Amino acid sequence: MTLSIRRFSSAQADFSSQMDALLSWDSVSDTGVQQAVTDIVNNVRSRGDAAVIEYTNKFDRMDVTSMADLELSQQQLQDALDGLPETQRTALLAAAERVRSYHKHQQQDSWRYTEADGTVLGQKITPMDRVGIYVPGGKAAYPSSVLMNAIPAHVADVQEIIMVVPTPGGELNQLVLAAAAAAGVSRVFTIGGAQAVAALAYGTETVPGVDKIVGPGNIYVATAKRMVFGQVGIDMIAGPSEILVVCDGKTNPDWIAMDLFSQAEHDEDAQSILVSTDADFLDQVEASINTLLPTMERAEIIRTSLAERGALIHARSDDDAVAIINRIAPEHLELSVADPEAWLPSIRHAGAIFMGRYTAEALGDYCAGPNHVLPTSGTARFSSPLGVYDFQKRSSLIMCSADGASELGKVASTLARGEFLTAHARSAEYRIKD
Ligand code: NAD
Repeated sequence: MTLSIRRFSSAQADFSSQMDALLSWDSVSDTGVQQAVTDIVNNVRSRGDAAVIEYTNKFDRMDVTSMADLELSQQQLQDALDGLPETQRTALLAAAERVRSYHKHQQQDSWRYTEADGTVLGQKITPMDRVGIYVPGGKAAYPSSVLMNAIPAHVADVQEIIMVVPTPGGELNQLVLAAAAAAGVSRVFTIGGAQAVAALAYGTETVPGVDKIVGPGNIYVATAKRMVFGQVGIDMIAGPSEILVVCDGKTNPDWIAMDLFSQAEHDEDAQSILVSTDADFLDQVEASINTLLPTMERAEIIRTSLAERGALIHARSDDDAVAIINRIAPEHLELSVADPEAWLPSIRHAGAIFMGRYTAEALGDYCAGPNHVLPTSGTARFSSPLGVYDFQKRSSLIMCSADGASELGKVASTLARGEFLTAHARSAEYRIKD
């Protein structure tokens, strides 16, 4: 059965409405899920460990009676790393090292300077005390998510990194545990869903409350994260994964087809879009898609994703292609063109930019170095990849000299009296020199 993918051109009069239709995405806001998550969060908040155990037994088909059965030891993590087949251990450690060295470049330094009146001003950087990493585990295991979430926290010098991961049926994934050892995770609880998010947010007798929760998850996890925001920080609410490939028509069409598949295979809602100024090339890629699709393990997921949310867009010019990029603000942007550097200055919105024909997005998912937790659904307009800075806070520093306090005091007093805040004014005036 030939797959038909939506196709349109920036030359069409209805191009703008075609783009609107392509990008419209209703994240299902299911009131049933909302109510279920509210109950779980409230229950865990009030009943602590007992509620966590009950929900874990119920949703993850477990049969435990104590939280001790839901915590792994550092020895178990290390044993998992040591016990991996050699090729897997080498690949995992190589990926961890690349991710670590990239994130070290994101470290922020405190700074200060001195004003002419002798007042010292500055900014002090402090890592968070304790953070929670949610690693999904309901339907599949994600060792790369462990690395991408925990390593920036570790590089930021967070004192304690608490990881939660559901283990349905009690099945431990050795690669996930090994990744926790490689990434420097402090404690691991085998719990998941809304109950794990609530346990991290409010703390229980056993699970320590954290300052921020990061990491992807299903609708229960996302809804719980939204609900506990304020009690703790969160990284983002991630939507379905997306890729936008822009190609000048000179890359092997099979490569491009597979790059589109690499997002589409995540799930039916994932979005893969190709833009090219070469209309014939769109035909070639469509032919490759149809040839390669039957060879894919997740062929049905890919088929649905491309049929429902995919697109092949013909751009009249490079300028039109750039406008499409900035309109979409994609999570992943692949610039499969001869001179990607020439494109870079015009690109304003994209979570991660993969430059040149050799830079497959899949390399970034696992091991290139940058983080794979990226803004989705157009949120790259205002947000950034997960990074070291997400685990650090900034405090401002002010240290006035006597002269500085006297000069600033006059300004502050005038403004405070304008606001009728007498205590503010007098506090400043006390420090004005006679
Ligand atoms: P998950 O760990 O997110 O969810 C499993 C948990 O959901 C279970 O432990 C259970 O507590 C809860 N749950 C399931 N059914 C429930 C019900 N009826 N009522 C209450 N709670 C229930 O694992 P998952 O389900 O496999 O989902 C993982 C998600 O994370 C996927 O959507 C995947 O695409 C996404 N993901 C994103 C990235 C990224 O970087 N953006 C990476 C990996 C995974």
